[in-house]
Amino acid sequence: MMRQYELVERVRRYNPNTDEALLDRAYVYAMRAHGTQKRASGDPYFSHPLEVAAILTDLKLDDATIVAALLHDTIEDTDATREEIDRLFSPQIGALVEGLTKIKKLDLVSKQAKQAENLRKLLLAIADDVRVLLVKLADRLHNMRTLKWVPEEKRSRVAQETLDIYAPLAGRMGMHDMREELEDLSFRQLSSEAYESIIGRLQALKENNGELVSSIERELSDAIAQKNIVAVVKGREKRPYSIWRKMEQKSVAFEQLSDIYGFRILVERLEDCYAALGVVHTKWPLVPGRFKDYISTPKQNDYRSLHTTVVGPGRQRVELQIRTREMHEIAEYGIAAHALYKDKEGRGDLLTRDSNAYAWLRRTIELLAEGSSPEEFLEHTKLELFHDQVFCFTPKGRLIILPRRATPIDFAYAVHTGVGDRAVGAKVNGKVSPLVSELQNGDEVEIITAEAQTPPAAWESIVVTGKARAAIRRATRAAVRAQYAGLGRKIVERAVARAGKVFSEEKLASALNRLARGTLEDVYAAVGRGEMRSDDVVKAIHPEWSGLAELAAPKGEGWFELEQGQSLKFKIPGIESDPDPKTAIPIRGINRELPVRFAPNGGAVPGDRIVGILTPGEGITVYPIQSPALQDFEEEPERWLDVRWDVDDDDPQRFPVQIVVVATNEPGSLAQVAQVIGERDGNIDNLRMSSRSADFTRMVIDVGVYDLRHLNGIITDLRARAVVSSVQRVNG
Ligand code: MN
Repeated sequence: MMRQYELVERVRRYNPNTDEALLDRAYVYAMRAHGTQKRASGDPYFSHPLEVAAILTDLKLDDATIVAALLHDTIEDTDATREEIDRLFSPQIGALVEGLTKIKKLDLVSKQAKQAENLRKLLLAIADDVRVLLVKLADRLHNMRTLKWVPEEKRSRVAQETLDIYAPLAGRMGMHDMREELEDLSFRQLSSEAYESIIGRLQALKENNGELVSSIERELSDAIAQKNIVAVVKGREKRPYSIWRKMEQKSVAFEQLSDIYGFRILVERLEDCYAALGVVHTKWPLVPGRFKDYISTPKQNDYRSLHTTVVGPGRQRVELQIRTREMHEIAEYGIAAHALYKDKEGRGDLLTRDSNAYAWLRRTIELLAEGSSPEEFLEHTKLELFHDQVFCFTPKGRLIILPRRATPIDFAYAVHTGVGDRAVGAKVNGKVSPLVSELQNGDEVEIITAEAQTPPAAWESIVVTGKARAAIRRATRAAVRAQYAGLGRKIVERAVARAGKVFSEEKLASALNRLARGTLEDVYAAVGRGEMRSDDVVKAIHPEWSGLAELAAPKGEGWFELEQGQSLKFKIPGIESDPDPKTAIPIRGINRELPVRFAPNGGAVPGDRIVGILTPGEGITVYPIQSPALQDFEEEPERWLDVRWDVDDDDPQRFPVQIVVVATNEPGSLAQVAQVIGERDGNIDNLRMSSRSADFTRMVIDVGVYDLRHLNGIITDLRARAVVSSVQRVNG
């Protein structure tokens, strides 16, 4: 295992101003944090973050990246916390480690499904700092290098994920060395036979061709040297995976040298590239259509090089890349190399947010997201969406993609409708959070559920996903329907009993056709809603029954107990009793689901004692208990329902009442009345000057008020005005 001073030494070689104490602290901290943990190989766990850091020193990265590499598994796997890392190192390093912790959940995600495309976007979404991606790639590279220790059943999954996500990502970041190594390691795991056969063929080819590669190298070098250009020419065997891919694409076996070897000419200066190209093209015929000038037109990831293919010595096709050393570094190490070249002053922190290098990296990341080829353009279009998305996880690592501003409620419904319906709370990243909070990228969300929970209708306006909204509406409807069905059943039972019959559901079931309803529940709900009369139900069950005339007049008052907290009150008017708050039907001002109306003349407000009257075909009308209009229903006690107010203090609503104001008939009296009501925050819905005499004006005013106290305050203030002679509430 690499020693502390060895690591420092590696960093110092490319960064003389490295913060040695910082590296030492991170080394010791990570070693202690991982303690006696072991890797699958049996090595101490700490050897892994250390190797990851070493890979990043090869890329010559800044101190913060090296430290983040040392700490990258601590939050997830040890007692270390973000707060502690912030305090002991820096909030910047803390943020890097936390980013890596979030990305680690990806490893879990891909167990679930093939989601490579989404996952790559997720990576970019979470990593708002490119160094997070660099550490992650190094982490994956080391894990791939040590794959053989991992249990057999896991290996292929990890390899596939590497091939799908991490290798292309490395390529997009311009890190071709890393991409190729990741590809080969994955290929070896996934198609070991193909891998071995290609290695075998390469070996055989090398033996057959003998000196061919070195003679091409020599011939090229000599020709270029004759023109006084300093250059190094190197023949390079292509990697097994890239050979295999080529064979697959062309569906041919490799035969030509150019399929296997590439030659690279490294020169000192930019102009040497073109000079060397001239030499090559003078000496050997070029293969048409293969020349590309990525120097005058660099690739978006800043890759620069000349590419050409010539018919070389021995009539072999030879692929050539010509570039400077600086271009070469960028070609091999991409983003990482660029950081080095753009900021040569040797400052310790090469990738700080305000450095040139950082700006370049941000641009590169944006370009990664934007792309330029038609294929990449498509991706760009998707990425537009992706900016509007937030990626979250279940505790088991399932990826849930939601629109921005989504809440844990949306999350719950996205997981499963049943989870949403039963949600009562949420933990976000282990902390209890409100169900209405806004989720962030990478959040891990745990939904707390309870049985027999109905989602509050108010959620409908909070959620952002259509799925959640539809499900909430459905669940609310189902709950309301169950309420009505429970109520309707009691009404039917009572009607049957009053007809002197014995109620049985079997008999009702056999009458469903006559009632034109499909199920018992349909009948109950219809009766409960007032859409069907209970005596019609009795007639359907007992066609011989002669009807209402047989009804025994009810006596006294009483309650029917309903299921699930409902009750139906029947009462002989004149005898009062208090509604039971636990069992009465809750009434709110605006409830689209319940067919509730307020008494047409005079309304009702919270604070009033109220009663509901069931009207077939219309639903429930709520009256204040003192309303004279209730006398009309005295003969129909089965229509009386016990109801109670269920007002949300946090969300006050206005309720309709009607008042009659008699004012002296003088200019400005109406204005004064309106002013008093307005000052008191009453809302005039309608006003009629209904009766004029010589001295008085009678105004009938519909006012929206919050509750009885509010109404009484308005009435008192009106009475205090000299112009007002009397104020009466209708139904009051
Ligand atoms: Mn790791």
